[in-house]
Amino acid sequence: MFEYTGAYDYPPFRPPNEANSALIRITRGCPWNKCEFCFMYKHIKFEIKPLEEAKEDVEKARQIYGKARSIFLGDSDNLVHKELPEIVGYIRETFPEVERVTTYARAKTILNKKMDFLIAVRKAGLDRLHLGLESGDAEVLERLCKGATPENMIDAGRKAKKAGFQVSFYVISGAGGKDRWREHAVNSAKVLNKAEPDFIRLRTLTIQHGTPLKEKQKRGEFVVTPPLERLKEVKLFIEDLNLKDCFLASDHLTNYLWAGDSIIYRGVAGELPGDKKRMLETLDRAIEFVGSTDLEVKDSNQLYEEGFLTAL
Ligand code: SF4
Repeated sequence: MFEYTGAYDYPPFRPPNEANSALIRITRGCPWNKCEFCFMYKHIKFEIKPLEEAKEDVEKARQIYGKARSIFLGDSDNLVHKELPEIVGYIRETFPEVERVTTYARAKTILNKKMDFLIAVRKAGLDRLHLGLESGDAEVLERLCKGATPENMIDAGRKAKKAGFQVSFYVISGAGGKDRWREHAVNSAKVLNKAEPDFIRLRTLTIQHGTPLKEKQKRGEFVVTPPLERLKEVKLFIEDLNLKDCFLASDHLTNYLWAGDSIIYRGVAGELPGDKKRMLETLDRAIEFVGSTDLEVKDSNQLYEEGFLTAL
C-alpha cells in the first residue's frame, strides 16, 4: 500500500464550484499559455505527468481527501494526456463512491482528438469539461489571442456533448472592452445557442498585473467596460440566449459591483429558460440604480487596483 508522506502536487486553480472537490493534477500548466488576459500558468512550464506519477498522486489524494464525492483534475488541458482514459479509470477504482469527475479542456484540443479517444475518456468516468469560451465574437477572441474561432468553440462544444460529456462554458463579461461590448454579448449568445452547453459560467474581466492585456490597457489600447455598460452587456447576452436546458452561474466575486461600503450587485444565476425573466429583472434594477446613483460604483478592476481583491 502506498504511504502518503506529506508532499502533494496541488493544482493551483480550480473552478469555483469545485471548492469541495478532491484535486488531482494530471498535467502542469497550459500548452497554449498565450491568452492575453490570463495570468494562471504564465510561469509554469507545461508538463504531462507520466502515468505512474499520476497514479501515485491518485493514491495520495485518496489518503488526503478520503471518500470524495467530486474530483477535479488540473491543470488547464488534460485531454492532451494520451493515457487519460487509464488515469480516469484508476481514479474511479480508487474512489469508488465518487459522483463526479471533471476537468478543464481547450476547444482546439477537443477538435484535435479522435472521437474514439473522447468516448474512451468519458466511458472511463470523466463527466464534465470546463471550457473557456471567453467570447463568441471573432474579433474579441483574436484580440485576446485565444487561439480559437467562434466556429471552433461551437464544434468543440458539440463534439464534447456527442462524446457524452457535460459541457460548461466560461464567458468573460467585459471581454469586448468599452468599444465592443454589444458584439461580445450578441455573438457569445449566438455561439452558446449553437453549442448548447449544460452550464454557462460568467466571470468579469479583471485585468491583472503581469498580463499582456494590462500592458495594452496602460497604452490605452484596451479600455475596461464600465459597470453600467457591463450590466447592459450581460442583459443583452441573456436576452439573446435561446437555450432549453442550461444553468447559468455567476459564481465568482469578480461579477460583484460595489457602491460606498455596500455590494449592490452579485451577478445573476438560474435555469434557462425558466429563470430568464427573473434574471433580466434583477439586471434592470441594477442598471437603474447604477445609472442614477451619485455614489461611485466600483467593479472588480477598481477593487483589484486598490488592493482589496487579490485571489482571483
Ligand atoms: S485562458 Fe486557458 S487556454 Fe488561455 S492561457 Fe489561460 S489556461 Fe491557457
